[in-house]
Amino acid sequence: MTPADGTTAVTGPAARLLSRILRRDLLAHAYLVTGPGEDRREALAAGFAGVLLCRSPGLDEAGPAPCGTCPACGKFRRRTHPDFLEVRPDGAMIRIDQVRALCAALAFAPLEGERRVCLVHGAHRMNPEAANAFLKTLEEPPAGTFFLLTAPTARSVLSTIASRCQPVRTRAARPAETAAGLPGEPGAALAAAVLADGDPERAAAYLAPPVAEMRRRLLDAVSAEAPADPARLLELAAGLAEDREQLAAALGVMRALVRDLLLVQGGGGVSDLELANPDFAAAVRSVAARRDAADLAAFSAWLDRAEVWLERNVAPDFLAEGMLLAWWGAGAA
Ligand SMILES: [Zn+2]
Repeated sequence: MTPADGTTAVTGPAARLLSRILRRDLLAHAYLVTGPGEDRREALAAGFAGVLLCRSPGLDEAGPAPCGTCPACGKFRRRTHPDFLEVRPDGAMIRIDQVRALCAALAFAPLEGERRVCLVHGAHRMNPEAANAFLKTLEEPPAGTFFLLTAPTARSVLSTIASRCQPVRTRAARPAETAAGLPGEPGAALAAAVLADGDPERAAAYLAPPVAEMRRRLLDAVSAEAPADPARLLELAAGLAEDREQLAAALGVMRALVRDLLLVQGGGGVSDLELANPDFAAAVRSVAARRDAADLAAFSAWLDRAEVWLERNVAPDFLAEGMLLAWWGAGAA
């Protein structure tokens, strides 16, 4: 997706809401754009900025769009609009001097129209000093100034900042769309995209060799007809528990597997490419043939609890061993 220019409409689930807000003149002074895909977040935020600056935007029920022909649209498209300010990370972080420069610019009234738009790209990359300085401006925004922030999730931003912004979410990509943009073998790319719920950034992490290797070992182990001997299962669990990220990925692998198994058991001639794990299709079908659906539902409920435990910092080795025991326990029941 190319970044929105001054003629790009806002689309997706956020669009109707934004049209309604603009028609009723109920704009908040700050919005936090979150959701999968950095390019989607940037496109939505830039589209929204273009609409806010346009002198006569279209406000259809389907979503707002800048007129594309007024002087404001022309300047926004060329990125020369004096009332459009951007801050983006300098290297890895947004630093306090960048925030100070922004605040200094905001001391003056908007130059051209009634509105001024500040787009903060990657608000989760503000270092703590920058975030605290920005918070002061966000608490007492100058008249006519609108802040648009982008970040992967609301939780990735300082909570005091997130709580002062209205949330706007991008549309999640379908896994197959995401997989098409990933390098490497198509089956593994699709599986990574499914594990990441279509989020290209997270999907790329699932493609990294350690995660791909972990996934292969885990799927090999749990698709075996009988559990490996206890010593080997403990060894596998210890490997999964090496770090929290890997354990979270392992829970995701099992969740995607359960989804596949229930899909196959549901019948109706599911094709390999409809599976989250098309590269393990044969193993998925053989496990589906011998596993009981009620046991799988019980294991799925265990996964739900495990994700809560992981957030609450339960010991990773306890969770990893528990996961394998729950899996084989479900099979033995
Ligand atoms: Zn316009």
